[in-house]
Amino acid sequence: MNNSERKQELLESGLVDSIKSLFQIKTGNIPEKYYILMADYIDSIAMLHDVGGTNLDALEIARRLPATVEEISEKDLGGIYGVTERKKITMSNLLGEDANKLYFFHELTHALQTWEEKGIEHCGFSNGHNGLFFAEASAQYTAEILYHISNGTALPPKTERTVRGQPGHTTYSFLSEYQLNGNILELFATTIGMSLADILDLGFDRKGREKLENKYDTENMLAGSLYPSFDELMDDLEMVYDIDKAILAGHAKLLAERPVSMQGTNGQRFYGSLSKQDELITKAEQNLSAAFISFNDNDYIEKKYHLVENCLTTPKLKQNLINGAEIILREQESFQSGMNK
Ligand SMILES: [Zn+2]
Repeated sequence: MNNSERKQELLESGLVDSIKSLFQIKTGNIPEKYYILMADYIDSIAMLHDVGGTNLDALEIARRLPATVEEISEKDLGGIYGVTERKKITMSNLLGEDANKLYFFHELTHALQTWEEKGIEHCGFSNGHNGLFFAEASAQYTAEILYHISNGTALPPKTERTVRGQPGHTTYSFLSEYQLNGNILELFATTIGMSLADILDLGFDRKGREKLENKYDTENMLAGSLYPSFDELMDDLEMVYDIDKAILAGHAKLLAERPVSMQGTNGQRFYGSLSKQDELITKAEQNLSAAFISFNDNDYIEKKYHLVENCLTTPKLKQNLINGAEIILREQESFQSGMNK
């Protein structure tokens, strides 16, 4: 279905009018085109629900819209596609129709996942201190999945891409942005025995971060872990994200030469460099893939280890995983053949 057919379908279904009526009097701050896109987003959640891709209730998400989006506008944002700030979404006016839809879905996901508690802005897995690394991954996954459901197209095939500033790291992803975040989020989900769909749903749940934290911080996950707590893993990933933002801002050369004092999202200063970022990515992936082997049963490991392998971004990390998995699975085979005698 092309864009104009899709728009026609949404208008004729009455969904656009229903979304508008939820907003009542504040209609002036939102251009018509974005009411159609919000209806599209909600309808896409319902379609995804029908095929078993989410447990989200489209109607419940629609009801949240007026309280989370007060204004939508467009302007030149330089290289940035969209920004969500305090219930205001600003989209770049330089995007074509398809990119506008995809990145509006990303920003709308942020807006729907944002709330304030004691003056601190939470956003999905971010508690205002750390967790934005995962919040970006889940917003991008949600946006791309809904975008393709809406268009009636298959998700794009996964492709390899070098991580910005890190020639030694390669992601394998269908995402068009935040591939590293996406790979590590999927690695994390698989390690704690959760599907990608379930973890994306948790992004909409105000208790979502707490639920992940509880799951990760169980005694098992702590034993032998390089990360004694979920919070510390999030702290490291936040630095990876902060260094990436500095690379995007054009500081890659400086960060390659020496550690630079930076202010993190959490307000704390740290020394960032490309080698520090490499070290943090490797540590997080190594730890999560080791935890995947240690804390899951053999059947699960056998079923999921190719997926985990694809999430890892260096040949050495992949090899470590394969070695670990093979030992476990070989033990199982000899155990089973022993039983069959
Ligand atoms: Zn974002």
